[in-house]
Amino acid sequence: MAKTKEFQQGTNETFYPGPSRNHLAAFPPKERWDDWTELDSRAWPKRKERHYSLVPTTCFNCESACGLLAYIDKVSGEVQKFEGNPEHPGSRGRNCAKGPATLNQVYDPDRILYPMKRTGERGEGKWERVDWDKALDDIAARIRKAIVENRRQEIMYHVGRPGEDGFTERILAAWGIDGHNSHTNICSSGSREGYQLWMGIDRPSPDHANAKVILLISAHLESGHYFNPHAQRIIDGRTNGAKLIVFDTRLSHTATHADYWVAPYPGSEGAILLAIANYLIQNRLYNRDFVRKWWNWQEFLASESPDLEPTFGSFEQALKTEYAQYTFDFAAKESGVEARTIEEVAKLVGTAGTRFSSHNWRSVASGVSGGWTVARALFMLNALLGAVATEGGVYPNAWNKFVPRPIYTPPHPNMWNETTWPREYPLSMNEMSFLLPHFLKDGRAKLDVYFTRVYNPVWTNPDGFSWIEMLTKPDLVGCYVALTPTWNETAYYADYILPMGVGSERHDLHSYETHDSQWLGFRQPVMKALKQREGSTVSDTRDVNPGEVWEENEFWLELTWRIDPDGSLGIRQYAESKSNPGTRLGVDEYYEWIFNNSVPGLPEKAAAEGLTPLQFMRRYGAFEVKEKIGAIYDQAVTTEELDDAREDYFGRVYTRAPKPAGPNIVPLPLPDGDDEGRRLVGIRVGDEIKRGFPTPSGKLEFYSTTLNDWGWPELAIPTYFKSHVHPDNLEKDQTILISTFRLPVQIHTRSANSKWLDEIAHTNPLWIHPSHADKMNIYTGDLVRVETEIGYYVVPAWVTEGIRPGIVACSHHMGRWKLTDQGQRQLMATVKLKHKDNKWALRREKGIEPYESEDADTLRIWWKDAGVHQNMTFPVHPDPISGMHCWHQAVRVRPALAEDRPGDVFVDTQKSRDVYKKWLAMTRPADQFSPDRTRRPFWMLRPLKPGREFYKLPD
Ligand code: SF4
Repeated sequence: MAKTKEFQQGTNETFYPGPSRNHLAAFPPKERWDDWTELDSRAWPKRKERHYSLVPTTCFNCESACGLLAYIDKVSGEVQKFEGNPEHPGSRGRNCAKGPATLNQVYDPDRILYPMKRTGERGEGKWERVDWDKALDDIAARIRKAIVENRRQEIMYHVGRPGEDGFTERILAAWGIDGHNSHTNICSSGSREGYQLWMGIDRPSPDHANAKVILLISAHLESGHYFNPHAQRIIDGRTNGAKLIVFDTRLSHTATHADYWVAPYPGSEGAILLAIANYLIQNRLYNRDFVRKWWNWQEFLASESPDLEPTFGSFEQALKTEYAQYTFDFAAKESGVEARTIEEVAKLVGTAGTRFSSHNWRSVASGVSGGWTVARALFMLNALLGAVATEGGVYPNAWNKFVPRPIYTPPHPNMWNETTWPREYPLSMNEMSFLLPHFLKDGRAKLDVYFTRVYNPVWTNPDGFSWIEMLTKPDLVGCYVALTPTWNETAYYADYILPMGVGSERHDLHSYETHDSQWLGFRQPVMKALKQREGSTVSDTRDVNPGEVWEENEFWLELTWRIDPDGSLGIRQYAESKSNPGTRLGVDEYYEWIFNNSVPGLPEKAAAEGLTPLQFMRRYGAFEVKEKIGAIYDQAVTTEELDDAREDYFGRVYTRAPKPAGPNIVPLPLPDGDDEGRRLVGIRVGDEIKRGFPTPSGKLEFYSTTLNDWGWPELAIPTYFKSHVHPDNLEKDQTILISTFRLPVQIHTRSANSKWLDEIAHTNPLWIHPSHADKMNIYTGDLVRVETEIGYYVVPAWVTEGIRPGIVACSHHMGRWKLTDQGQRQLMATVKLKHKDNKWALRREKGIEPYESEDADTLRIWWKDAGVHQNMTFPVHPDPISGMHCWHQAVRVRPALAEDRPGDVFVDTQKSRDVYKKWLAMTRPADQFSPDRTRRPFWMLRPLKPGREFYKLPD
């Protein structure tokens, strides 16, 4: 930069170098975070300087947990804005629009500031303010009673966005309950299942920045998964010359950047991927050495072709024969994409070598029955090319993630909760969460205490009216506690609403697979961190948060303490201070212990700056533990780990040696021990014992013995699956609705209190192709009825060429509603619910309007629409294997009737029951299909993992 004379306030100096003396395109250097200067935009044209303390935290508006810097005005003590934290290794200072919008959430005039207790009927909207102590004592007493009376299955914690790695799971383990319930089976289980079956780890970590070819299924640029951290690396890859292939039936943001936008018939993606695989196989373009060493082809031959000589040559021949059916013409017929295009894409993939990065998240894997087979077919391309844990390839996520050892690790529960892990779904990726109302209606269980946290099942889940029916019956749900920073549709049915902090008001630790690295991010209450930086003590976040907003970690520790005040249940010990026994553990001690004891390199790095590890994390908000992790599967197992080792026919090596100590370099769980107490420690490859993959075979599982043994032999190898919306399964005049795509500036439930985001996106019209619209004589803005199996909704049409002809799409996020004026007013319409027997109708009474509040902007609200709540009209569609709710709907689209209004919803919950039963009948339950009388393969992932004895089915 050219040298300039220092600007002097009050002089006639003409060149003003900016108050920060820093290039505007650069981040504030960390050395100046204690006093950062910017001009006050409201004082313009005067140049009035404002001074800020910059305090890091992480964004909580999606799972990526990008770094944020809070700009705290030194005079007012208020957060002026949030921008990116350049010290964060995952996000590198960049954010999507949702990060800075955290500010809206902090200052939302409609936010919930105090604990509230219901005074009327559930859903009536009558509340009284209650103090935290009373609420805690009441809830703790109920939980204690349930534990003492051995009704532990009646306590359930249901989480939407966890935003942290394991804190709450450990609280539940401390209580001795198998009460974890997640949202994952309405979110990403389809993909996870496909990846887990290959590599024993359920998520990919693609190295987009170094790839030669990138293949994405879903909209990954800001509106799909891992939004900004992956988006910026996809763009890095493109800048470096990578070719981008995007499969998406809808023209997404990502598709607009693609070299190949492939818009297949929904659910046919697997056919295209297997045709690409077949091209690589028939032309021997695959990495033969990698496949020979790392696929479990021996098991495939032993099981499927025992007469063949067990050689790699036999396998290659069998592979050619198996996949010959997946021609380009076959894929073209299934997908509607031209064979010539598929061939071009296949040839491009064939040039990638080990620099092939790919990712399937949500999209088709969450859309159709057998969606997990698509993720499996996609990863097969990586497995064929040897692009696994290579630069520019795909890593198992657990290797690009760092989870530190906590201060306490309570044992996993000695029980099995059949409400969340029912026998019908022994291979499900996660808890069968969205079937809860049906299970309770079936009489399988009831709940005494039910928590939701950052979760809004009435609005987010399919079949929301069945959730209302469940929540309004106290004999099914005794006490419902909603932990939430903002109003939501489910919280209206709660007994307690407890206000929780947004991303700048709470602690969490997290680490995500953004690239080949392991980093740790630290979310923190920024006001507390600032006060500590200035030498004050803050022991409770309620002292610095707005109103009586709390953070969850302090809440859970306090609740745990009150459940077992005298320690007689053995629970209190997990919430007790180590440094001051007899008192409750505080969050400072909790994090101090972790940073001092289980983050390699952090104490040294902090000491070099004269800081304690906790001070370092409070100051910078993130720490990179290790870069360039590489191919862990290929590491040799040390001789110390091979004590008393035994090797089986397939080269699996079992040992009695203890597990190696240290951070999670080796991803567990490996399949636990044989009958003699050994555990799988590695796999023979040539003369060496390598760490391998955490699968039953220790290798990449082309052939799944698990699927074969648990009743699905026809799907034991990557196979094309005709989904529930395959043309063979549609009725005349039905089409497919894609309902899951996201808008890049919205965030499920928490969007509604972000005024900047609401102004940008506040409606969800139905995407419909001109050729399709013509047939119905529909124009943009015309109302249409979308009829599902259980009801219908009414929505305006948007006629666009950005969708495959004949398919329609409607975005998630919209249709937020409230029953009374109490609630969020910037994106929640006021509605009336009508209910008779099983029939439910929702009609909008009042749209969005300007209103007076302490925020002058609320008088400037100009939008009226809030979209339509389509998820309510979807029945449950649990995939019989992954357990994933299959979101795509077979629908009929018609011009609206005269009586229809925008946003109308109608549902018959008896039909919901019928569809639930139909899908339940497709399962292959453990009672009949388990090969060893267990409930679930022990090697498969599970958030809380009961001891092996609880896996046994009762006789
Ligand atoms: S991608 Fe956007 S919403 Fe997600 S954590 Fe980053 S800034 Fe927040």
